Amino acid sequence: MQKINKVFIALLAGLPAVAMAHPGHEFPELGFLSGFFHPFTGLDHMSMAVGLGVLLYNAKQRWQLTGLLGLAFSLMLGFIVGTQNWLASSAAEYGIVASLLFLAYTLWRKQESLLPMATVSLAVFHGMAHGTELSGHGHWAALMLGMVSAMAILYAAGLGLGALLQRFLPQQGRKIVAALVALVGFIGLA
Ligand SMILES: [Zn+2]
Repeated sequence: MQKINKVFIALLAGLPAVAMAHPGHEFPELGFLSGFFHPFTGLDHMSMAVGLGVLLYNAKQRWQLTGLLGLAFSLMLGFIVGTQNWLASSAAEYGIVASLLFLAYTLWRKQESLLPMATVSLAVFHGMAHGTELSGHGHWAALMLGMVSAMAILYAAGLGLGALLQRFLPQQGRKIVAALVALVGFIGLA
């Protein structure tokens, strides 16, 4: 019991860190694993990938696959742009906020053909945020692959969540997800 209490308190103490839009990389030397775990530790990347899955659940399978490839491509492009230090890292942070707000907007609306793909391309900022901070690091390619893999898994989870929402909350499901994604975006602004 004592132990459970301790774990609970530790979890509570960790909440602000989880809600914080963008914790950095604690263990960059771990390469792939560090990149892989990162999207699970911050709400910004997680809500982006899961939200995209929910967004594309109603789309044709071909578009779901395009969304997945687009997500991976945008992330990698962002990483590469980030490592060049062309833009200040604050630009990527604001880009992440913009991507979340835009995602919330597209989730809120009825499905339209090109909007989801435009939203997917905004994942470029999520990659960029880390390319910048890791440019001096030898392991950034492994780290990038780790993060892309994790985002792909979260995207697939989003597709699954989309299926559940369709079944149990067909009216409000997407709007609830939209509101949550927008909330994470606003926390990121603060
Ligand atoms: Zn991050």
